[in-house]
Formats: sequence, structure tokens, C-alpha cells
Amino acid sequence: MTSENSGLIASDASEPAEIVPAPASLVPHLREVAILLDIDGTLLDLAPTPREVWVPPALAETLKTLMQRTSGALALVSGRSLNDIDLIFAPDVYPAVGGHGAEMRLAGGSEADSVKAPPLDKELKRRLAAIAKLSQGILLEDKGYSLALHYRLAPQAEQAIYDEVSRIRAELPEAPIEVLPGKCVCEIKPAGFTKASGVRELMRHAPFKGRKPFFIGDDVTDESVFAIMPDFAGLSFSVGRRALGVDGHFDAPNDVRAFLARLAGR
Ligand SMILES: [Mg+2]
Repeated sequence: MTSENSGLIASDASEPAEIVPAPASLVPHLREVAILLDIDGTLLDLAPTPREVWVPPALAETLKTLMQRTSGALALVSGRSLNDIDLIFAPDVYPAVGGHGAEMRLAGGSEADSVKAPPLDKELKRRLAAIAKLSQGILLEDKGYSLALHYRLAPQAEQAIYDEVSRIRAELPEAPIEVLPGKCVCEIKPAGFTKASGVRELMRHAPFKGRKPFFIGDDVTDESVFAIMPDFAGLSFSVGRRALGVDGHFDAPNDVRAFLARLAGR
């Protein structure tokens, strides 16, 4: 999706370079903070397909150290399901908000503590899935709570995909769904929850409750979380495209990993 659809996030070209790199000194002592991290495009480099992402061993070590030093107040916040998150980070398990807020888990290794999502209607899912046939290179991903159409390998199909999604929605006006534009991905999920609602729920419980969170995210869906950080006296950091109103910025996931490693070693 292009930048005019992306709300708070301005394109690299139009945004003056006024947001400073995120300094670790902004972050209070680790015993006072909750660390909230988007996964794709934030912790991990984006891959041609969602299955190809890779967790560098040094990152796995950093995250484990930060988990210990925050007494478990580190959570992954993703559009991926908890199940998918666990496969990516195996054998390590973390507290998480999954499925764009559909699922929330306070401790690694446990089942979801809450599940918000009804399953997507089967007929709707079938019709949305057929959109992948518009062009070679469109990848369909059933994320459990949502359906994602990836077009990184078929960028020319972007408009046709969104047109077709709009047409299907118009034909099924009763379906409580919403469309999430992302980086070379069009995602369709049930309405009624977001990453922000998932984070709000997470922050109501120990070990997160009462801590000052900081959230790092790179995409349009992360803006909802940036927006609620002040409610918790927290901080928000963007990655890649510069988001407006954040406390700091990273150019790439590699910079996020270096920042977290510095925090872990502090
Ligand atoms: Mg992301």
C-alpha cells in the first residue's frame, strides 16, 4: 500500500529528518519497563515469503537476557498467530499478543489467556482465497485469525487485489471484517480488536502492569500501539519508514537488534 493510505507514517521522501535515532538512555531501568516488540520488519528482516524469516542466534540470546532482566515483562506483538510465533522462535517461547490482538498470552509456554476472535466466515474465506488466482506470485497465508494476501512477488497486482477485496466486502456488507494494508500485504481480519487492544489487555496484568512500556514497530498496524503508549507513560519507536509522534526511530531491523543487545548488556 502506498504512503497516502498509511495514516501517521509518512514516506521517507517527504518526511524531514527530525526524529533522532532511539537512544538507549531514554529507556528507564529494566526492572521498571515492559518491552513490547513487533516481529516482522522490526526484530526480523522481511523475507520474500513469511515462512522464510530467520531468527539470528544473537537475537535469541538478547531476548532471553531481556526476559530475565525484566522478570518476564517482554512480549512479542504480531499479526502472526501465537502458534506461528512459537514456531519461528522455537525452542524459546515468549509472552505475546498474536493475530493483531486476537490472542494474548502473559507467559511463554502457556495457552492463550484470552482469545477475542471469531473464526473468519468460511464462505468469505473461500472467496478471499480465490483472489490469489489473480496473478502468479500472490501468496495466500491463512494466519488463523486472518487471511493475508502477499504480493511482494507480484507488486503489479496490488490495485487488482484491493479492488477485488472491496468488491467482495460490498457483496457481504454484514461481515464484521476489516482490511489491513501492510508492506506488500493485504490482510483481512475480523473487526473488533487490534494490536492496541491486545496491548491494553496485556498491560492490565502482571508482570506488565505498572511498568513503563516501550514498543518498537514498523508497519501501519503498529500505529495503533504507538498511539496508546502515552497512556502508560511509555515510549514508541518506529522502524524503516518514519512514524510521526514517536520518541525515536531505527533505520532497519539490524539497528533494533543492536539497540536491544545494548539494553541487555547495560
Ligand atoms: Mg512488522
